[in-house]
Amino acid sequence: MKKKVAILGSTGSIGCQALEVIAEQIEKFEVEVLTANNNAELLIEQALKFKPNAVVICNEEKYDLVESKLSSEDIKVFVGVAAIEQVVTFDSIDIVLTAMVGFSGLKPTIAAIQAGKSIALANKETLVVAGNIITELAIKHNVKIYPVDSEHSAIYQCLQGEFQNPIEKIILTASGGPFRGKDLSYLKGITKKDALKHPNWDMGAKITIDSASLMNKGLEMIEAMWLFDLKPEQIEVIVHPQSIIHSIVQFTDGSMKAQMGLPDMKLPIQYALAYPQRLKNDFERFDFVNHPSLTFEKPNTEVFRNLELAKQAMIKGGNMPCIINAANEVVVQVFLEDKIPFVKMPDVIEKCMKEVDFIQKPTLEDYMNTDMVTRELALKIVEDKKDVFLHQD
Ligand code: MN
Repeated sequence: MKKKVAILGSTGSIGCQALEVIAEQIEKFEVEVLTANNNAELLIEQALKFKPNAVVICNEEKYDLVESKLSSEDIKVFVGVAAIEQVVTFDSIDIVLTAMVGFSGLKPTIAAIQAGKSIALANKETLVVAGNIITELAIKHNVKIYPVDSEHSAIYQCLQGEFQNPIEKIILTASGGPFRGKDLSYLKGITKKDALKHPNWDMGAKITIDSASLMNKGLEMIEAMWLFDLKPEQIEVIVHPQSIIHSIVQFTDGSMKAQMGLPDMKLPIQYALAYPQRLKNDFERFDFVNHPSLTFEKPNTEVFRNLELAKQAMIKGGNMPCIINAANEVVVQVFLEDKIPFVKMPDVIEKCMKEVDFIQKPTLEDYMNTDMVTRELALKIVEDKKDVFLHQD
């Protein structure tokens, strides 16, 4: 029996790599649903190749194009973001890979969990924003969440066979991004082109900027807290520039387990889709001789303030992680539009953390509202400071 997969965000980096995995393991998987935000051309190409039962194009202006190109195929075409929440409930789906960007992943993930689908979670923002709601729903509907994020996949792999053994702590590894070792005065001069060059991982624009600012690792701490039911003080971050050790678990006897491999997202994607099986593949293998030195260093939270802000949000709890996520999505977007310098992004996030109303026990509605209010505030801060931002020495 083939596993039937829905890929939400199939035209993004993770979505495309998931389809590569499926193409290489075609006797194991079948594509049931593909969804894309905007990239109609690629969605059409993927649909013609993988023949899913249905596709969703979120951008309404692209519907006619997708519909006409797929009209001779037995593929249903739906339009609009809300349609994703419908298609993920199809009886035929076994597992939903959530690979869309940011807060937009929240509602479709909730719909998939409520429909009892296994989740291969690539959209970390879902857990960052509303980890309590997602984990409670998953327990209620007896749904498994398999992490796709490489660090969390590493921890998940280290925990196999250890289900009764308490975790003392976990250590998330961070590459440090393209600006590792740099000081603030260097960062003042960097451009979006510099920030989009990641040394080890090939990823989408949003997560690449998050990696350069270390916000990605901050979000991953919060993601790990929810996935593995940990307390904030059990989660550490270490910079490991070679990205070979993907993360580490330390058990109560002091023993540590780490998962290693070359940095290639196809491995955690395949592991999440095929769990509990390990499938044979021909991905490039790691060789110690080519990497004789694996090094580790403390993250510099004075230069990379986002990591510290995310940690504060994790400790504070409530809607604070939702606030940092929304503010961060805005500043990354405006940074990519050249409207804010790289080093000013944490200032906007910090101001939002101070000014948006704190809620200790938020409902889903509170999260939706917090997200909206924070985005408006972050945009306003950027707009008010535009002159200051653009005329820096
Ligand atoms: Mn990661």
